[in-house]
Amino acid sequence: MQDMAERAQVAKNGAVLLGDSVACDAFDGDRPLRIVTHAHADHLGGLRKSIKCCEKVLMTSATRDLAEKLDYTLHLRGAPIETLEYGEPLAYGNEKITLLKADHILGAAQVLVEDAGGIRVAYSGDFRIDGTPPVQCDVLVVEATYGSPSCRRKFNVDVRELFVSMVERRLRGGAVYVFGYHGKLQEAMQLLRDADVAVPFVMPDRVHEIAAVCKTHGMRLGEICLSTGSEGRELLDGNLPCVAFYHMNARGAVGLRNSRICLSGWEFQSACKQIGEREYLVALSDHSDFDGLIEYVKRTKAKQVITDNYRSQGAALAKEIRKRLGVSAYPMPRAAGQTTL
Ligand SMILES: [Zn+2]
Repeated sequence: MQDMAERAQVAKNGAVLLGDSVACDAFDGDRPLRIVTHAHADHLGGLRKSIKCCEKVLMTSATRDLAEKLDYTLHLRGAPIETLEYGEPLAYGNEKITLLKADHILGAAQVLVEDAGGIRVAYSGDFRIDGTPPVQCDVLVVEATYGSPSCRRKFNVDVRELFVSMVERRLRGGAVYVFGYHGKLQEAMQLLRDADVAVPFVMPDRVHEIAAVCKTHGMRLGEICLSTGSEGRELLDGNLPCVAFYHMNARGAVGLRNSRICLSGWEFQSACKQIGEREYLVALSDHSDFDGLIEYVKRTKAKQVITDNYRSQGAALAKEIRKRLGVSAYPMPRAAGQTTL
């Protein structure tokens, strides 16, 4: 039997190589199958090349639709993309490939590759442990965004409930502005709708387009309107009760005199922090913190773990996995000059 560790690798360009045929989240010239785990930019590397050179490019239909909206230069309709839904296996050569749900952004997936000998190799993709059933496997490649023990959310508060109550309270003063990244903004919309916040949601073009894709794929976002349309302008100009959703990049440009909430995962001390006169940072994250990563690895029962050292610093997490779980773990790709574990 081939050494288990050789069944998975992270290449220098960030391609997560699983089994014999699969490259996830970056292009690899030797692999006939390209998988996109989700539509964030650091997982779409070399997609044009993959479309040209790979036999199949696989992703969920939600990821395909989101990727097209997030990157206007990608034209995925008509490209040889095969959509694969959660739990629907694809046989290729001697292997079986399955995408499994990951709680991160709409369409996000974990990847499992099983060979004829029963060896199971998996890649977590990006995830939040709450809604991600850990995939049982022998060899695991795991994301390491918050892989340092300092990245622990110590606060014992339901951040989602906190966010909803902050918005509700501030709506009495008129329009509330919410800033965040694509994907998370739409999650925030759904949180508010699930809590029966019924005011209009106003947003610029891009956020609106992505929200429309999310609605198509079943997210409950209710009525949404464009900030540039007459209804949206009336609501914002008149400071009427509504929630305005903007990309983080627009923070300096809009809603400067309103209540403002910024959604950021990079906050570990408190669930909510005041950062301006009427501006707050709320620690709503779409990644597991350090404890969540360790718990996930434990539940996969993997005997060999590789931490993604391309999209984040994987060395600290590998060290902690060895120490806390007694499981063999190392970062890949190796940093320049890094020879020891
Ligand atoms: Zn991501």
